[in-house]
Amino acid sequence: MAEVHGHEDVRRDLARAVARGELPGSLLMYGRPGVGRQTMARWLARLLVCEEPGAEGPCDTCRGCRLALDLQHPDIHWFFPLPRPKGASNPEKLADALEEARYEALAERRADPLYRPPPDELVGLYLAQVRTIRRLGASRPAMAARQVFIVGDAELLTPQEASEEAANAFLKILEEPPTATTFILTAADPEALLPTLRSRLLPVRLRALPDHEVAAYIRGRTDADPDRARLAARLGQGSIGRALAFLPRDGEPSHAEGIRLAARAWLEAALDPNAAARYAAAHAERPAGARGAFADTLDALELWLRDLAAVAAGADRDVIGDDATDRLHHLARRARPDAIPAAISLVSEARDGGRINANPQLTLARLLNRLSATLS
Ligand SMILES: [Zn+2]
Repeated sequence: MAEVHGHEDVRRDLARAVARGELPGSLLMYGRPGVGRQTMARWLARLLVCEEPGAEGPCDTCRGCRLALDLQHPDIHWFFPLPRPKGASNPEKLADALEEARYEALAERRADPLYRPPPDELVGLYLAQVRTIRRLGASRPAMAARQVFIVGDAELLTPQEASEEAANAFLKILEEPPTATTFILTAADPEALLPTLRSRLLPVRLRALPDHEVAAYIRGRTDADPDRARLAARLGQGSIGRALAFLPRDGEPSHAEGIRLAARAWLEAALDPNAAARYAAAHAERPAGARGAFADTLDALELWLRDLAAVAAGADRDVIGDDATDRLHHLARRARPDAIPAAISLVSEARDGGRINANPQLTLARLLNRLSATLS
């Protein structure tokens, strides 16, 4: 089940605040993606509806806890970004369609506790969902002493196309919260929230987990062998969610692993003395044609360059993709170590340039040539 892992200090503080009746009505759990923000939000929600809470947290065995663990508790409402439903012609229909989509998504999470939404899906938090939250908040709790609303990835409530209304509507709810409700928002970066919204939330920071804890989690929850679990934990960089994304799916490399390997091929092409290798890499079929994959592969390339710098500096133990340390040693012989920081800047530039609709193949061809010139 979605048991929380690590973050003992945060849990202890929250449990103490709940026991003393001092927990603020609105909180913001933040930390890098995959670090366990929504899992922690659900842990706190469980604690708030638990019939026999202990000093350490929810009992996990009472009726309230069992329903919460099964995502069926009538007083815990978990909202998260969803794709915009098609064909909803008026606000009521849109609200209904979003609720239907939310229940379907909850069912998927119930069936697979390690479920992750498809990475390239365009999703949002909509005014219609905020209105649903307001409507639910106006009714009394069904079972517990209070209702708990979890809003995942709340940065999508920031003013952008058509969602400023959603952010402002949500702000109104927090300004005059319904009685007996707790709001738990999650975000990767609190700065991305409207300042007026942020100022009403108690920030709770979730730090990166140590590799060995992430690896232990993976070994306990999946059939990954110890080497795979250890590598995934390293690649996850303190985040269970990210680490899980690197595990094979049905024996095939995952999307994230495909991106990582594609980025390594780019680095090898950039360091190949033969210009034809760079041409071939830039014109090869892209690993995942979907939106966002190009920027993600550039992020992965930046990580490989950092690993290359570590190897060049004799710091093998700092290498993150350490399944490739030998290859990196081989590549490091072709690269000027003092030029690696400049190479990393070139990659960031290409990523920013790619955001303004440049042709990815041209951007990549140009980048590989520039990297080659800079590093050799
Ligand atoms: Zn309980």
